[in-house]
Amino acid sequence: MGYPADMSEPELSVVAPLHDEASVAPAFVEALAPVLQRLELSFEIVLIDDGSTDDTGAVLSALARDEPRIVVVRLSRNFGKEAALSAGLSVARGDAVVLMDGDLQHPVALIPELVARWRAGADVVNAVKAHRGDEGAAYRASAWAFNRLMGAALRDDFGRQSDFKLLDRSVVDAIVALPERTRFFRGLVAWVGFQTAEVPFQVAERVGGDTSWSLTGLIRYSVRNLVAFSSAPLRGVAVAGFTISGLGLLLALQTLYNWARGAAIDGFTTTILSVLLVGGSNLLALGVVSLYLSAIYEEVKGRPLFVVRRPRSRAPGGPGTPDGPGGPGTPGGPGTPGGPGTPRSDHAPVS
Ligand code: UDP
Ligand code: MG
Repeated sequence: MGYPADMSEPELSVVAPLHDEASVAPAFVEALAPVLQRLELSFEIVLIDDGSTDDTGAVLSALARDEPRIVVVRLSRNFGKEAALSAGLSVARGDAVVLMDGDLQHPVALIPELVARWRAGADVVNAVKAHRGDEGAAYRASAWAFNRLMGAALRDDFGRQSDFKLLDRSVVDAIVALPERTRFFRGLVAWVGFQTAEVPFQVAERVGGDTSWSLTGLIRYSVRNLVAFSSAPLRGVAVAGFTISGLGLLLALQTLYNWARGAAIDGFTTTILSVLLVGGSNLLALGVVSLYLSAIYEEVKGRPLFVVRRPRSRAPGGPGTPDGPGGPGTPGGPGTPGGPGTPRSDHAPVS
């Protein structure tokens, strides 16, 4: 199914990934629609069925039959939330795109606030967790470690971040144009920059269905994203290599000194020196390899060297617009290699 011919580009797209959410999806749409209607702007609701094995697909199709502004994209199997978000971003056509979970844990009542911040000039509006909800101590500790490492890699406070966000069209285009394949959505949003605002929210309890995360799944997800965003572990290997080699050199000098004083036990000098020589040169070589590997890794990701912030093409109108098009005031400037402004691929969502 394509878009109806008379349907012009909406001002706002709401994108939600859903995996086995048949019990929650109707309630989600029912809660969402009136909130969007009250905003007095044109909108579409993009629902991504991420290879659900329950009735989600049929439920979404039924919802789309009743409401032409609902666009359903069905992935051929479960590709994971990150892939579902990427699919949603490439399909959404709005001047602003709200991304949120389809399980009602992200409150739809917050959307007007996100839109207000966008109208006031913010390109990225992050809904941040005021309270992390009920999480076990182990989960909390690992989330803390993950967020610290990630935050260091992105020079950003990551602890309260969520996937509940509003992105201006320019940000969406910049993210869609990034060539890397391992996509950590939250990280990419932080990486592309732009004018950012925050709105706190309370994570709601799940009303139905079940979380799709297992512990091993979460660990895999964290490791994958850390590796995609940070070469700190590689550089850590290099630092350890150089430090230990340096200490080895000191030990070698001391051993030689003892030998010259005649204070060395017979045979030990050779043993210590050969151990240090072999171990030290190994670590040193590994350190050098790590440095090159982390440089290659940065190159391979092929991110643009910079992203240009352009004035908004269409002023976010509607009631209560405090100030025009956000006035980023950036001139057109040099084009970004593969950056924003790249036309979106011709998308024809399947429903
Ligand atoms: N989700 C998805 N694909 C997956 C896992 C989850 O599209 O493989 C969706 C899920 O339906 C929900 C959102 O991503 O709308 C968040 O997932 P979940 O509620 O399981 O995570 P949690 O809220 O526990 O972090
Ligand atoms: Mg959830």
